[in-house]
Amino acid sequence: MKPIKVGLLGLGTVGAGTFNILRRNQQEIMRRAGRSIEISMVAVRNSEKAARLIGDTCVIVDDSFQVVNNPNIDIVVELMGGIEPAKQLAFTAIANGKHVVTANKALLALHGNEIFKAAQDKGVMVAFEAAVAGGIPIIKSLREGLTANRIDWVAGIINGTTNFILSEMRNKGLDFATALKQAQELGFAEADPTFDIDGIDAAHKATIISAIAFGISMQFDKAYVEGIRQLQAVDISYAEQLGYRIKLLAITKRTARGIELRVHPTLIPSTRLIANVEGAMNAVLVQGDVVGASMYYGKGAGAEPTASAVIADLVDIARMATADPQHRVPHLAFQPEFIGTEAILPMSEITTSYYLRLHVSDQTGVLADVTRILANFDISIDAMLQKATADESQTDIIMLTHQTQEKKLIAALEQIEKLQSVLGSMTRIRVEKLT
Ligand code: NAP
Repeated sequence: MKPIKVGLLGLGTVGAGTFNILRRNQQEIMRRAGRSIEISMVAVRNSEKAARLIGDTCVIVDDSFQVVNNPNIDIVVELMGGIEPAKQLAFTAIANGKHVVTANKALLALHGNEIFKAAQDKGVMVAFEAAVAGGIPIIKSLREGLTANRIDWVAGIINGTTNFILSEMRNKGLDFATALKQAQELGFAEADPTFDIDGIDAAHKATIISAIAFGISMQFDKAYVEGIRQLQAVDISYAEQLGYRIKLLAITKRTARGIELRVHPTLIPSTRLIANVEGAMNAVLVQGDVVGASMYYGKGAGAEPTASAVIADLVDIARMATADPQHRVPHLAFQPEFIGTEAILPMSEITTSYYLRLHVSDQTGVLADVTRILANFDISIDAMLQKATADESQTDIIMLTHQTQEKKLIAALEQIEKLQSVLGSMTRIRVEKLT
């Protein structure tokens, strides 16, 4: 069979990784795909830099449209990142009848609905294993391996940078700013870490997961996103004393009233496997009604793990390219005519448990006042700690609540913060037992 021809957009971390692995494991990949996969054209901004990396093994151009308009290219692999020109290039490639592989979670979370519609109309594939959790084959697992299940929820540590920072904060007792600086020095965080530490990157990936898990459209604009900037070392330590670890968790859950889609720091019982995912590693926990809980663990980023996912998509396309489009695995796991319109619930409507920390003046009746207000909103307490502070006239009270609706908790906190004995604003972190 003749080789399948690939045009690569971008030769950075993932692009170069993909180029190298395709070469290194050429034979093994060809034996699996049934034909060889050849990169015949590469587009970058700086072609001299690219030539230094890959020599004259293929054509290097600085105009990406030359790749997507080249009639000899079968598959366009978009590894440049960002929204434009990646979006325009993906649409042009699809319009030209080319299959597309992308690692670009931002592009898919924001414009996936239109991209998949265009691909569907044109009968081409858009594959995106590398867009979520790097080397972990979570898209394939959800889309194919778990296809007998009604998925109840998915919870994942899907941003390595924040997991590295949180691990350092816990293991070394560092504050957030110091742990971030260290992560940047070690290359685990970008110079501009906003997308990672503010939870946006995880929310892009969670949006893709929720679409595939529940057969709904991508609804990034409805996702609740809270990062780890505000997290204090003291809360990591108190959580530990209560038997919990704090992780930036991406959660998507099917409930009777709608779908939850949220990213925020979360207390997880430290006995759970996922609570012990350390450093830059990723893990995704899926609860299906048939299989029960299953967990997927591995490297969520980096040149080779991400290339592993890109190449898996290339092999899938090489195998399926000649198949009738009707008989391929649907982009979003469910057949397009059955993609639902279920809404993402507003955050005020979600139900979960909470960790609360109050700084109070150490006087009689404070605790009674706080618990009375919580009881007025039907919020009951699961566990409590009282901790002395440097100032003997003040104390920290730490509580874990049972499950309640977010809007009830917010209303209760408003009243508690008005109490004279409560000093400053309260800290509130959500808790998930993941059972
Ligand atoms: P990167 O190292 O910054 O590389 C980007 C590449 O794209 C560079 O070769 C750059 O060329 C090229 N490029 C950018 N804009 C271009 C344009 N307008 N025209 C032509 N070439 C252009 O990025 P990366 O880390 O490999 O990430 C690529 C994609 O993979 C992103 O969507 C990212 O979110 C995703 N991803 C990355 C990882 C990871 O571990 N890095 C993991 C999962 C997913 P020049 O060098 O010449 O400027």
